Amino acid sequence: MIIKCQNVYKKYKEIQALDGLDLSIKKGDIHGLLGPNGAGKSTLINIFASLINHDQGDISIMEQSIPSNFHKIKGKLGFVPQDLAIYEDLTAYENISFFASLYGLRGKERKDKVNKALEFVGLKDRQKSQVKTFSGGMKRRLNIACGICHEPEIIFFDEPTVGIDPQSRNHILESIVKLNKQGNTIIYTTHYMEEAQSICDKISIIDYGKIIAEGTVNKLVKLVTKHELLYVKIKGDNFNYNESKTFLEIDGVESVNLEEEGINITHNGNSELLENVISKVKACNKQVSTIESRIPNLEDVFLTLTGRTLRD
Ligand code: ADP
Repeated sequence: MIIKCQNVYKKYKEIQALDGLDLSIKKGDIHGLLGPNGAGKSTLINIFASLINHDQGDISIMEQSIPSNFHKIKGKLGFVPQDLAIYEDLTAYENISFFASLYGLRGKERKDKVNKALEFVGLKDRQKSQVKTFSGGMKRRLNIACGICHEPEIIFFDEPTVGIDPQSRNHILESIVKLNKQGNTIIYTTHYMEEAQSICDKISIIDYGKIIAEGTVNKLVKLVTKHELLYVKIKGDNFNYNESKTFLEIDGVESVNLEEEGINITHNGNSELLENVISKVKACNKQVSTIESRIPNLEDVFLTLTGRTLRD
């Protein structure tokens, strides 16, 4: 295992941000840390980066204990922080060159690596522009270039796609897959389950500072496949909260969640379910628009395990 965390605790005054966290990350994986806002993802990444120290527990990266031996592996790690760490008044080239110098790169080697990073994130033709003229997506891409210019072996991405347009988001996700194909181990934090589901080999679901489930997407989804899902869309105004809860009275229904245009029902596959659901819709004086049966996804896994949605 390239990263190992055992029983890690971190408290900020009264907030227990990490609460006995165990995590193992295999070399060569894209490993997702999926959890809602406030789950402890950034805290963990900041500990890996030695920006803050943990209170208790053991952490090793490439078999070096953190924080005591951090200096031995620092150059092999790359961090792409959630908050942009770039200088608006400098050009794209100057920004990357500055970060490369922090990693001890000099002369021709620095120039070559800066150029390579610029090309990798697709900003070569804008290398001489000041960052303040860049779009949000371009700044995110530059932020990535700054984190990877020294060619690290393990790269930590902390929610790199928050608040950007879909095109830049796709570009970033593709870049991450490419870095992984070149042999890098990637740690990727997100609260977007679609992203975790599409690029990660393994996912650890984090909630209140603990890993509550982990494995491949398939393994995680199997945790909830004994449940089936029905999405009932209705015409006109949606159910109110009390009406939605009356569906819990139906035999076989396990949970009901109010969605934008209807309800999501988890059930145990009872054969008369559909008829009963339609009767219940009528009893609420509503009309069914569509009913669809869905395959569970990571959002459903999180909902089943915690009773909350990732966006709560
Ligand atoms: P995530 O990255 O999953 O959104 P964080 O690691 O940022 O979660 O936060 C975990 C918890 O710790 C949250 O309750 C957050 O409010 C709290 N927290 C984070 N940083 C600080 C800090 N510097 N001081 C006090 N509380 C903090």
